[in-house]
Amino acid sequence: MEYRRLGRAGLKVSALSFGSWVTFSFQVDTEAADRIMGAAYDAGINFFDNAEVYAAGESERIMGEVLARSGWGRDTYCVSSKVYWGGDLPTQRGLHRKHIHDACHAALRRLQVDYLDLFFCHRPDLETPIEETVRAMDDLIRQGKVLYWGTSEWSAQQIQEAHGLARQYGLTPPTMEQPQYNMLHRDRVEREYHRLYEEVGLGTTIWSPLASGILTNKYADGIPDGSRMSLPDYDWLRERMESPEGRKQIAMTTALKPVADDLGCSMAQMAIAWCLKNPRVSTVILGASRVEQLDENLAALDVVGKLDDEVMQRIETILDNKPELPQQW
Ligand code: NDP
Repeated sequence: MEYRRLGRAGLKVSALSFGSWVTFSFQVDTEAADRIMGAAYDAGINFFDNAEVYAAGESERIMGEVLARSGWGRDTYCVSSKVYWGGDLPTQRGLHRKHIHDACHAALRRLQVDYLDLFFCHRPDLETPIEETVRAMDDLIRQGKVLYWGTSEWSAQQIQEAHGLARQYGLTPPTMEQPQYNMLHRDRVEREYHRLYEEVGLGTTIWSPLASGILTNKYADGIPDGSRMSLPDYDWLRERMESPEGRKQIAMTTALKPVADDLGCSMAQMAIAWCLKNPRVSTVILGASRVEQLDENLAALDVVGKLDDEVMQRIETILDNKPELPQQW
């Protein structure tokens, strides 16, 4: 495993980490979660990502059971939660002081830990002043309940504002962002945040490196049984994949497949290695519904070295060209 600094912070996270969105509870019970997280930990993964909204808390509960029975020293791994969607009531959602306080304590209980290593604001909250959020996060850090706080899908301007307020009032600024980043979704990480890496030392824990599985090329001939896109609770994701834009993404993945073949690796491995190649990425959060997928994806670490300038240019040309849609899909 390779370890990378979380932006300017001293904490080193494994370049590949593991998250439980969709999988825990919907596809994976506690026993299977135990096997997958065990395989991840044994491979050197030291960061496990979660959120209050994943399976309405059930995902954190499963992860908490696995951590509790694991016997792993608390100083050998990091675990996160994210706050925003905790319920339907006004007190249960958003980034106001009360919900941040309640969400943190509920996550600690479900995850069965005394502190969260990373705590993210899952989206911006336009109805709460950023100053209130920064102060609430700073309080949790001073209380020792959170070590690093960050954002997820905030604009560069919102992140800058949080930093400005933290500087002005002597509060703890956000350390990291959790943006989507993969071959099909690049703008924020590569362009919008460009200045933040130097100016505020932003770290990134990037999500959906395989675009929910599309970049494995497994959807080229339809939707395999049991795959994410077949799950009834995620029909919104399937509908997005079946849209003209989604079909273009599948066509692009199919066009990229020969590059992976020439490298002697799978499409999933090449797509993950492509994310790892970007030095602005602190960690790539993997998702996996089975140990075999995780094992395959972990081997992406060996593919990064094969992505030389020529290969990167070949990939870029395909991504730029936006291949024609297949007649039928
Ligand atoms: P990916 O895009 O990598 O998708 C993972 C899914 O793809 C797996 O669950 C599996 O689904 C399929 N898959 C993975 N590897 C393979 C393989 N080798 N062969 C075939 N299929 C494969 O990541 P996620 O979308 O799961 O995101 C990763 C993590 O990022 C999440 O768990 C979460 O922690 C975080 N995240 C954060 C968000 C945010 O807003 N901050 C939003 C989304 C995710 P299946 O077997 O079911 O087809």
